[in-house]
Amino acid sequence: MKRTPLVRKFYRMKRKPIKRGTGLNRKSVRSILLRECDKLFSLYIRNRDKVCQVLTCNKTNLHCAHIFSRRNINLRWYPDNALALCYYHHLHWAHKEPILFTEFIKRKLGERRFNKLLLKKNIIETIDIKLVIAWLKDENKRR
Ligand SMILES: [Zn+2]
Repeated sequence: MKRTPLVRKFYRMKRKPIKRGTGLNRKSVRSILLRECDKLFSLYIRNRDKVCQVLTCNKTNLHCAHIFSRRNINLRWYPDNALALCYYHHLHWAHKEPILFTEFIKRKLGERRFNKLLLKKNIIETIDIKLVIAWLKDENKRR
């Protein structure tokens, strides 16, 4: 990209610390919030499901497994987009058998919820991470 005065101003603004002296710029504040939100969401999903959601499994060494990847920011902390799976079923089954995993999810969610998830994936939304963090903290307190 050509470094026009406007582009230079944009990069200066991006680097600008949020608070003087903290060394935190907008980008690092966002990544701290993302990490905190992911941690709270993982706890929420593992508390909600309690055991590996593969029916014959019941193990409790749980991961929070996403259906659509975390790259989809509007689904990243959406309860229907994640479930608790044990280490084995997450990494050696869901990630390695995408067709079987999709069929499993369709059965688990039912057609309506599955279609809603697909629809939501394609909608562009602005997410207020601080609001999601507040909601997750509240949810995790209840359990
Ligand atoms: Zn399992």
